[in-house]
Amino acid sequence: MRLLLGLWFGFLTLWGGEGFNGKSLVITLPSPAGTVLMNERNISVVLHPTDKTKGIAILPIDYYTPTGDINLTWVAPGNNEPLSINIQTALYPTETLSVDPALVSPPPEALERIAAEKAQAETIYGHFTPIRYWDKPFIQPLDTFITSEYGSARTYNGSLKSYHGGIDFRARTPIPILAANDGIVVLAQERYYSGGTIIIDHGEGIYTCYFHLSRFNIHVGDRVERGQSIALSGATGRITGPHLHFGMMVHGIQTDPLNLITQFNALFPKDANETLTLR
Ligand SMILES: [Zn+2]
Repeated sequence: MRLLLGLWFGFLTLWGGEGFNGKSLVITLPSPAGTVLMNERNISVVLHPTDKTKGIAILPIDYYTPTGDINLTWVAPGNNEPLSINIQTALYPTETLSVDPALVSPPPEALERIAAEKAQAETIYGHFTPIRYWDKPFIQPLDTFITSEYGSARTYNGSLKSYHGGIDFRARTPIPILAANDGIVVLAQERYYSGGTIIIDHGEGIYTCYFHLSRFNIHVGDRVERGQSIALSGATGRITGPHLHFGMMVHGIQTDPLNLITQFNALFPKDANETLTLR
């Protein structure tokens, strides 16, 4: 049994049996079959992008996941294998922000809209499209420096406490925002908190989100390609200044996008990543 578990840890691509709150995990499995049972959820095992004899499972790990072990079972024909991932506490920075008070304590007339938008987002992110739209490594949606990391513990106007669910990139003037990979546009809309918002479905439970945009170049239902200019950055929604907020969802769970991109791209040969030329 000990030997079996030892072999199993070898299949973990990046973390070697360890994980961190807020950082979903891509694990590689010896065949592209079955599901991984995780916290009473069945996570589909899908094809490894470059080795069709193997499978991967993208395990959603929420920001609020407590430290300790998560016990998993790979359930596949002829296999019923246990695996344990040890979750440790990620070190995230702390931020204090001042925004329009109406965005911290929304006026009563905005509450219905906010609730409807939240429900709409949950429906989108909870939908598993059993198709993979991408076959190349992911890219960043723009090539500027990061002004706020994923996971920062935030206090808004001295009261509202939350955490930063994505990554902010500097974009002081409107600049083109690129699709991080191929996919289908499932939302392109002005929203209360996130302003001009685009969500792209990449298939198999993976979504990328682009917030605070000033102009859309695409419509809902469009198929977009990696690197396609989908919008211009802007300063709409709950913000302290113009920037792009970039997020990623995994099976309905918000996750550290650049960490997940790094894990996806590690599944490709090195030269596939070297062809990525950001502006
Ligand atoms: Zn942000």
